Amino acid sequence: NKISAMGDVDNVRVAVRIRPLVPSERDLGCQEAVERVGDSPQVIVNRSDTFTFNYVFDARDTQDYIYDVTVTDLLEKFFSGFNATILAYGQTGSGKTHTMGTAYNGALDENAGIIPRIMRDIFERIQKLVGEFEFVVKCSFMELYQEQLYDLLSDQPREQAIVEMRENRNGVVMPGLTEMLVYSAGETAECLLRGSTGRAVAATAMNEQSSRSHAIFTITVEATKKDELSTVTTSKFHLVDLAGSERSKKTQATGDRFKEGVKINQGLLALGNVISALGSGQGSGFVRYRDSKLTRLLQDSLGGNSITLMIACVSPADYNVAETLGTLRYADRARKI
Ligand code: ADP
Ligand code: MG
Repeated sequence: NKISAMGDVDNVRVAVRIRPLVPSERDLGCQEAVERVGDSPQVIVNRSDTFTFNYVFDARDTQDYIYDVTVTDLLEKFFSGFNATILAYGQTGSGKTHTMGTAYNGALDENAGIIPRIMRDIFERIQKLVGEFEFVVKCSFMELYQEQLYDLLSDQPREQAIVEMRENRNGVVMPGLTEMLVYSAGETAECLLRGSTGRAVAATAMNEQSSRSHAIFTITVEATKKDELSTVTTSKFHLVDLAGSERSKKTQATGDRFKEGVKINQGLLALGNVISALGSGQGSGFVRYRDSKLTRLLQDSLGGNSITLMIACVSPADYNVAETLGTLRYADRARKI
């Protein structure tokens, strides 16, 4: 089974992170309705619905602690040649960006999220291995909005920074996508900062928060053993700050009335289906990666020779319970792999 194939790491692991109440929720008089059950990896909602995951974190758990517990052994696997993906899922405002560190300010302090910490550790590890290996580290940063992919590291204006996806025998390729060669954690941080600034500017121009787009930061590491120059190992690490999982309300004109339509994000829908198909044991022929650009893009890092960590972020507030239950059910489907 997958567990033995991966050694001590499951192929897909699911963590839930319950953030503290934020000031706006306190102002509304919200109560906490979502809790961790003791020290177990269980969540209980409204003292009735219980869910079990690989990990559950709450307001007491620091960024540093969560990183140590969930990412350290994943990085170990990454350096032994596995691809890896970390996905942050949840409604807008639930803590995805805070957890991933996608909107990075350049400081590696206690608030820094997963991405800057991974960069720090990748280069730290490389330092220890440079005697034996030669490394090439590249990063790219994309935004997926309404099934259109944008290169956030492009020098071109946004309309010209659209990336096409093609498939060849090596898998999915994106000709023209900016891949920055980076030589230090600091340089990678610059990429992150530049891309997230571009994303925020675009969101403002479209008059919405970046909540309806996926942000995909990818680190590629190529390692060549110095005495066997023919053996190159390439591993990819995708770090994905997913679109808000709430259904976006869309106002449509129907006859003489306006009707609120509800649109489900295509990428999230396809991702949920792929993850549950992977777990159903039907074989890869039944996994519909092609249903969205998100799943096509992640194809080489979901299933097979790869490890996935999904972090489902939730608000503790009673006000958000319906969305929180939606998130926990989605995450539960992933855990059943
Ligand atoms: P999302 O990306 O899911 O929309 P954010 O990461 O932007 O949500 O978080 C929404 C707000 O909640 C931000 O003000 C953020 O600083 C705060 N927040 C999120 N998670 C935590 C946490 N674990 N501890 C403290 N504040 C948090
Ligand atoms: Mg966000």
